Amino acid sequence: MTEPTIFKRIIDGEIPASIVYEDDRCLAFHDVAPQAPVHILVIPRKEIASVDDLTPEDEGLIGHLFLVIQQIAREQGLAEKGYRVICNCGEGAGQTVFHLHYHLMGGRDLQWPPG
Ligand code: AMP
Repeated sequence: MTEPTIFKRIIDGEIPASIVYEDDRCLAFHDVAPQAPVHILVIPRKEIASVDDLTPEDEGLIGHLFLVIQQIAREQGLAEKGYRVICNCGEGAGQTVFHLHYHLMGGRDLQWPPG
């Protein structure tokens, strides 16, 4: 059996996280190593390893995650100046936790392109 990811363990309440939002489909919490004044991770409760593992049945879930991101960004005061939503897919793109997640980052000027 494969080890549960750290995010699955957060979903299951086995390890703590600084949760800012949760509902029956997703969870959002502060990144433990923030790269911006606001750096929040939004994850589905469903175990999906990456974008590359999505199926058509996940279509509604992904839309929901983006509306949650929009809501959190507004609550965090990011909407006016702008924010970035990042999803690393695969090791070569920097993905380290293989449970789908979106990084919501803002609160400082963000450079483009990212490294
Ligand atoms: P990625 O590199 O896109 O897979 O992003 C994984 C993110 O998870 C990194 O930004 C980590 O800092 C963050 N992270 C890892 N463990 C935890 C944790 N226990 N609580 C919150 N964030 C975490």
